[in-house]
Amino acid sequence: MTKYYVRVKPQLTGENAVHKETCPFLDDIKLKKYLGEFSTCQDAINEASRFFHHSKGCPFCTSEHLSLQQNQLRTWYRFSLT
Ligand SMILES: [Zn+2]
Repeated sequence: MTKYYVRVKPQLTGENAVHKETCPFLDDIKLKKYLGEFSTCQDAINEASRFFHHSKGCPFCTSEHLSLQQNQLRTWYRFSLT
């Protein structure tokens, strides 16, 4: 089981990113809500959706970055910091 957090402030894209406890982006996030422990990322996103309708898994936490282009990743990262 992994601990998951959701970013309270939406990104510029309007989504609330769901992160694992171990995510490198999590340190930069001041307003985050602890969701609980889940065995899959999708379960955590489902839980986050109860609070934030546009919850979405962080590309790093969901391993989506493996299929993302480098520039897409950079765009996502820029959005995640605002
Ligand atoms: Zn993350």
